[in-house]
Amino acid sequence: MCGIVGYIGSRSAADVLIQGLKHLEYRGYDSAGIALFIKNQIVIEKSEGRLGNIEKIFRDKRVPLYSSCGIGHTRWATHGKPTTKNAHPHKTGHVVLVHNGIIENYLEIKKELILKGHTPQSETDSELFGFLVLDEMELGASLVTAVRRSFSKLLGQCSVVVMSEREPEKIVGVRNGSPLVVVRDPEGGVVIASDAQPLLPFSREVIFLEHGDLVIATHEGMQVIELESGLEVERKPLSLEWSIEQMDKGGFPHYMLKEIYEQPGVITHTLNQILDRNQKNPFSLFPQPGVNLLNQAQELCLVACGTSWHAALLGKYWIERWSGIPVNVELASEFRYRDPVVRSGTLVIGVSQSGETADTLAVLREMRVRRVPTLGVSNVRGSSIAREADAVFFTSAGPEVGVAATKTFMAQILVMLVFAGYLGFKQKKKSNLEIAQLFNELVKIPHLLSQELEEGSEMLKQIRVTVQNLSHSKGFFFIGRGYSYPLALEGALKLKEIAYDYAEGYAAGELKHGPIAMIDQGMVVVVLAPRDSWRDKTVSNLEEVKARGAMIVGIGDSDDYDLKNLCDDWIPLPSENRSIDAGLLSFILAPVVQLFSYYRAVQKGTDVDKPRNLAKSVTVE
Ligand code: GLU
Repeated sequence: MCGIVGYIGSRSAADVLIQGLKHLEYRGYDSAGIALFIKNQIVIEKSEGRLGNIEKIFRDKRVPLYSSCGIGHTRWATHGKPTTKNAHPHKTGHVVLVHNGIIENYLEIKKELILKGHTPQSETDSELFGFLVLDEMELGASLVTAVRRSFSKLLGQCSVVVMSEREPEKIVGVRNGSPLVVVRDPEGGVVIASDAQPLLPFSREVIFLEHGDLVIATHEGMQVIELESGLEVERKPLSLEWSIEQMDKGGFPHYMLKEIYEQPGVITHTLNQILDRNQKNPFSLFPQPGVNLLNQAQELCLVACGTSWHAALLGKYWIERWSGIPVNVELASEFRYRDPVVRSGTLVIGVSQSGETADTLAVLREMRVRRVPTLGVSNVRGSSIAREADAVFFTSAGPEVGVAATKTFMAQILVMLVFAGYLGFKQKKKSNLEIAQLFNELVKIPHLLSQELEEGSEMLKQIRVTVQNLSHSKGFFFIGRGYSYPLALEGALKLKEIAYDYAEGYAAGELKHGPIAMIDQGMVVVVLAPRDSWRDKTVSNLEEVKARGAMIVGIGDSDDYDLKNLCDDWIPLPSENRSIDAGLLSFILAPVVQLFSYYRAVQKGTDVDKPRNLAKSVTVE
């Protein structure tokens, strides 16, 4: 969601802030702004729309605005329209702030402020915090004390970064929920951001502030204190491995396409991180606390949102088949608030790409209160889920910049399959030989995927042709059974996310229980039917929709001529896929539905990497 960058040091603050915010653009935003100290006064430039508007404002200024201290923000509106007036930073008297998240009791605070004679200028909850700080400073408090006192009046998860003209060249940041990360600039100074990516050009030694930390950054350096006690605390830096090159487009027109093409490497890398196939026990690399939790679990509850939820659903199918352990899959936003029954012996696993998904985090926190063991699956070391769950498994997908998840999904389903294999091995439901065979098959996947993605492959050619043929369609159903069902859900979600099409994912057998009423000639049914034990039943469901006039796009084995003949358009899976277990076909199907959406979005001219209204890590509930 929103991006925050703060800088104090010997470089040009405007340059650092704009570059930093560019690294955060992928998170999704609707307006942007920066505030700079110039001769002890704070100057603000902000605008609705893209960050380019702010860059233009600076370019158009004849005299460059030189400043060595400032804060910047990209906003993802929650309270008030995405207008310039509502964009951050907000200035209240001598106080200026940017804010990430939601102030839940903003209505009460607003009422009190109005009674005191204040007049908020924007519709945001964020601006109100500035009035609280201002009032405290008017009573004689320092900026830090005023921020601490004001923060104690807020409800909800949020982070703020504040400056005041009364205390020039100082930045105060508070982390309470939404992340805030800090590095020391080796050239002197401090950089603060809501995500590690803008900090990497400065240093890999990154400090992730804890929930309830306050950081004070000055030209001399930084100090971290506890918000509540005011006592200084030491926070150790974490060394990040991500390289700056990983964040470039590397010659691809979009990050999303680059990330789809990175998937073979992601699988190899994630596998190498968690499996040692040369050992008798291939799971010897599993992180210890996580293994213990898995060993003790009699039941699993996988909790997630969006694409991660689809990965979890696939996980359920695999884990139940391989280990016989019952698995529930829950939408985090529902689970948390419905007084769920969690039996003893249950391990709750929170799956989140960013590790910051507020709904999933809320579940893990609730489980901690109930003393239920928790495991996190996340792509980001140092993320909140990684720190708050009892143990964590990392997917090694590297930084994902495209808002629509692709390679992180692939890494998540890989971890789910490895869990299935491990639990099958532990429960003795599967023999060592069967497990070894599964992983021998799994290592073939990256090679198969690379062939599938090669320019000139039949699959790629047919996806592009199909997308051309469907330019006038009014809506899409993605259908599949068994392992293809979560992929059908994911295919529909991708299409909604980046091409803004009406799309539904359905279990193929469910179509006749209602949605079939919507099928007519403008509707496209994309059927995922690789050769597996569900293929024949899926084909029968397909006949039902074909009879009602839908356009059919088939995704199946290249030599499945019976299926092909039923379809108007045909996307063949690479014929080499026959060499792998049918249970692993999901890895081959995933890029097909991702590329289908990608080319459809390109055809429609949407903003593929930054689709409207979406945020990369959803840090509000
Ligand atoms: N709630 C704030 C607003 O709507 C901050 C949103 C954000 O995190 O960008 O302005």
